[in-house]
Amino acid sequence: MNNIVAIVGRPNVGKSTFFNRLIQRRDAIVDSVSGVTRDRNYGKSEWNGKEFSVIDTGGYIKGSDDIFEGEIRKQVELAIDEADAIMFMVDVEEGITPMDEEVAKLLRKVTKPVILVVNKVDNSKRHTDALEFYNLGLGEYFAIGGMNGTGTGDLLDHLVKVL
Ligand code: GDP
Ligand code: MG
Repeated sequence: MNNIVAIVGRPNVGKSTFFNRLIQRRDAIVDSVSGVTRDRNYGKSEWNGKEFSVIDTGGYIKGSDDIFEGEIRKQVELAIDEADAIMFMVDVEEGITPMDEEVAKLLRKVTKPVILVVNKVDNSKRHTDALEFYNLGLGEYFAIGGMNGTGTGDLLDHLVKVL
């Protein structure tokens, strides 16, 4: 596979909703042996004539942050290994959580492109709320509403540039 972007982040931020909007075709799951690999969805997408693969992570991880911290850490480490770019999705409804801080800490060390995506920015008040995510120390972010597609064009323009 080439031009791979992985979507990471804690449960319920909206990774799968965005993944489903993005993909045109779901690939077969390559490896059903490892639990970590099984917990990922692969799809193909295209933007401005450039094809890329998308990995949605953490499909089976449900529940509270603390219980699954180790699982999410594994998903992030795998994404860092496997992907050419990483989308780190956070949720403006919840704001910054301790697990977001943990993930940000891992990603600040990564030399591959890391794209911070603030999701659920469905109205203008939420654009103001989104500003707090500068505190994650990852620089600029893209504010999107993955459910209705708001802001996703700018995000994808950027993605295909860095891939
Ligand atoms: P995942 O666990 O990160 O894969 O998150 P999901 O894609 O399963 O979404 C978790 C919840 O957030 C669901 O109830 C979605 O409907 C909701 N959600 C996803 N995207 C948006 C969005 O752009 N705006 C709002 N308001 N809710 C969203
Ligand atoms: Mg999911």
